[in-house]
Amino acid sequence: MAEKKTKEIMQEFAIKKALGYLEKDPEKNAPKLMDMVDKVCPDDWYGGARKTIRRILEEKGNWYELVLRIYDLDPGVRKVFFENFIFNSALKGSAIQKEIAEKNNCNVPWAILMDPTSACNLHCTGCWAAEYGHQLELDFDTLDSIVKQGKELGTYMYIYTGGEPLVRKKDLIRLCEKHTDCEFLSFTNGTLIDEEFCQEMLRVKNFVPAISLEGFEDANDGRRGDGVYQKVINAMRLLKENKLPFGISTCYTSKNFEDVSSEAFYNLMIENGALFAWFFHYMPVGNSAVTELMPTPEQREEMYHRIRHFREIKPIFGMDFQNDAEFVGGCIAGGRSYFHINAKGDAEPCVFIHYSNANVHDTSIINILKSPIFQAYHDNQPFNDNQLRPCPMLENPEVLRKLVKDTGAVNTDYQEPESVDHLCDKCNAYAENWKPTADRLWEDSHSCES
Ligand code: SF4
Repeated sequence: MAEKKTKEIMQEFAIKKALGYLEKDPEKNAPKLMDMVDKVCPDDWYGGARKTIRRILEEKGNWYELVLRIYDLDPGVRKVFFENFIFNSALKGSAIQKEIAEKNNCNVPWAILMDPTSACNLHCTGCWAAEYGHQLELDFDTLDSIVKQGKELGTYMYIYTGGEPLVRKKDLIRLCEKHTDCEFLSFTNGTLIDEEFCQEMLRVKNFVPAISLEGFEDANDGRRGDGVYQKVINAMRLLKENKLPFGISTCYTSKNFEDVSSEAFYNLMIENGALFAWFFHYMPVGNSAVTELMPTPEQREEMYHRIRHFREIKPIFGMDFQNDAEFVGGCIAGGRSYFHINAKGDAEPCVFIHYSNANVHDTSIINILKSPIFQAYHDNQPFNDNQLRPCPMLENPEVLRKLVKDTGAVNTDYQEPESVDHLCDKCNAYAENWKPTADRLWEDSHSCES
C-alpha cells in the first residue's frame, strides 16, 4: 500500500513538473514531454491517447494548429486547465472513479452536470429548460456539497446547464474560488458575458463557457430572439481579446443542419476564437416538443460526414454527441461519464432524460449512482452494439420505455409531466427510419474489424 502511494506521488510530481516544462517552449518541449510521460506512466495508461498526441505533434496538421491556438491563451488559465483537466480529472480522478465504481458495482462519472437555476433571460423555442418552469434553483451550499461529494468520488469536472447559469454568475465564481482543483464549464446563451465577467474568469482561471449558437444571424435570432446573435459575437470578441478559452454548443435540427455544418459556420467559430464545437442532435423532449425538427436519415448522415471531414482539416475540436458515440463507447449517461442534477435537485441519468428516483436534497451522490434508473443504465450499457444508435430514447425507444417502467422513475417536469410512452412514441418512427442508414454506415466504417 505504502509502495503504491509512493509511486502515485512520484507520478503526480513528474506529471506536474512535465506540464510546467511544457509551458516554456511547447513546440520544442512537447515531444520531450511525451518521452517523460512514457517513462513514468504504465503502458496501459491512456495508450491510445498518447499515441494520438505523438501523431499530432509529428504531422503538424490542423490538430497541431489547434494545440498552438491553445498556446495563445492566457498562460495562467492554460496552466490551471492542464492541471485540472488533464491531471486531476483525466488521470488522478479516473483512477479513483474506477476504484469506487468497482467497489460499489455502479457507474461513477467523469463529470456532473447541474442546473444552478431554471431561470433564463431568454425564451428559446424547444429549450429543455423551459420544461421545468422558471422558479427553481440550487443554492450555493447545495452546489458546493455536490462538488465536495464529487471530488471524493474522483470527479473534478462540473458542467452547468439550465436555465441560463450565468444568471447566477457570482455564485459560480465563488465555486471556482472554493474548488481551485476542479474545472467548471458552463453552457450559456452568452448574453451575460461582459468585460467584468471576463476579468473574473481571468482571476479564477478554471471557468470555461460553451456558448449556444444555432447558425447564422437569422436562424439564431429566429429561435433565441432579436439581437442575440450580435450579443454572442460580442461575447466571443471579449473572450478572445482576453485570451480566454471557450467553445460553441449547437443543437442541430432538420431546419438548421445545413448551416451549422457548413464551412462558413466553422470559419465563423474559428475566426471568433472558439476552441471547440459541440453538436447536439435535437431531442423531442417535453409534451409540446415537435417531431418535425428531428433530422431525416439523409440529414443526419450528412452531419456524420461533414463533422468528420472538418475534424480532419479545421483547427477546432468538433464533436457530434450522437454520431460520435463510438469514441466514448456508446451512451455516456447514468453516471457512466456523466449525469444531470436539475434545479430542483432531481438526479437524472441524462440532461435529455427527465426521469428520476433520487433527489440531491434527500440523499448522497453515491446513493444517487446506486438508485434504480442509474443502476439500470449501468447494467444495460451499451444499449446497442451499433454505436450510431447509442441512445435508449432516440434510437432505441423500447429500451427507455422499459427502463423507466421497471425502475419506477418519475418524470421531473413539474409543470407538465410527460409519460415515458408519450416521449418514446415520438421516437419510434425516427428510430425505425434511421436504422438502415446507421447499419450501413457502421458496417462501412467497421468492416475491417470483423
Ligand atoms: S441517454 Fe441518449 S442523449 Fe443521453 S447521453 Fe445517452 S445516448 Fe446521449
